[in-house]
Amino acid sequence: MRIGVPKEIKVHEYRVGLTPGAVREYVAAGHSVLVETNAGAGIGADDGAYRQAGAVVVDTAAEVFRHAEMIVKVKEPQPSEWVQLREDQILFTYLHLAPDPELTKGLLGSGCTAIAYETVTDPNGGLPLLAPMSEVAGRLSIEAAANALKRSAGGRGILLGGVPGVQPARVVVIGGGVVGTHAARMASGLGAEVTVLDRYIPRLRELDELFHGRIRTRFSTIEAMEQEVFAADAVIGAVLVPGASAPKLVTREMLKRMRPGAVIVDVAIDQGGCFETSRPTTHADPTYEVEGIIHYCVANMPGAVPLTSSYALNNATLPFGLAIAADGLAAVLDNPYLRSGLNIHRGRVTYKAVADSLGFTF
Ligand code: NAD
Repeated sequence: MRIGVPKEIKVHEYRVGLTPGAVREYVAAGHSVLVETNAGAGIGADDGAYRQAGAVVVDTAAEVFRHAEMIVKVKEPQPSEWVQLREDQILFTYLHLAPDPELTKGLLGSGCTAIAYETVTDPNGGLPLLAPMSEVAGRLSIEAAANALKRSAGGRGILLGGVPGVQPARVVVIGGGVVGTHAARMASGLGAEVTVLDRYIPRLRELDELFHGRIRTRFSTIEAMEQEVFAADAVIGAVLVPGASAPKLVTREMLKRMRPGAVIVDVAIDQGGCFETSRPTTHADPTYEVEGIIHYCVANMPGAVPLTSSYALNNATLPFGLAIAADGLAAVLDNPYLRSGLNIHRGRVTYKAVADSLGFTF
């Protein structure tokens, strides 16, 4: 199969769909790979590294879109990209369609087959292509919170871990999945007081065992949420209802009762966000204030550390990408884990939660 890798064009997105090492695997399996010039610049991989791995480097994204049978990307296609997709093409990338009707219509109009990294599953019911970026975003969320909590950034001016004799910050993590676990690990490692809220009791048990009592866990009810959020210095939004828009768990009214200068990091913003007052921000201008609360809502957090993120992402996507390259659409339809990644096929939404969120027929 002919695989195409355009350079990412979303604001401050420096990751790349295939690393030179991944290209080498595709080429070794008998496929050809077209890479747009400078696609790997953000991770320090120049065109020479791609050529050495066996890729053909081309000058424009248009050439990649024209010749490739499968496009491998990182972020959802931007308008200038989705108009170039065709019915005979497979798109393999993050999509996050539920909160994005424009993109969904664009992909439906192209007739392409779009497989969303974030809904591909594994035999344990996990989300293997979301997990590596969730690990990165979870760890970064605490760095973001620590920065925003500085007085110079408008925050409360509290150091996450405190110092001997002075109390540490209280960090509340809503959602104890992959993002939440890595956020809790970083925050507790820095010495903060950490509470994780989740609605799935087995997960709370696992976290309790994992952290040996170094963090607190609470079942997520409205009452527990209010008590924790009102007393928090930083709240990390890390919930997920797969494929669906995130539930709005913290309202604007609740912000009024939070500590002034407290920080919200809404990692779930790529699914619409779990705070009523969240709106997507970029790395160029990551924070804004509502009701005295600093909001950090960057939708592509792992883009800030493209080197770590690109390698982590490629490790996870490679086996799936190779399977699609080998068998095309049949690989998607025959493999239940890849099949669950199928979000759009020839003008139809094929993922129920996306169809339900956007009011499309399924
Ligand atoms: P996950 O499935 O591993 O964890 C989600 C957790 O949320 C689960 O444990 C679930 O039980 C819990 N949950 C669901 N509803 C809840 C509720 N009402 N109250 C409390 N907990 C609830 O998902 P994840 O991989 O940790 O991803 C979390 C979110 O972060 C997703 O929206 C994902 O897309 C997003 N994400 C964003 C970025 C970014 O750059 N902004 C990067 C990676 C992941």
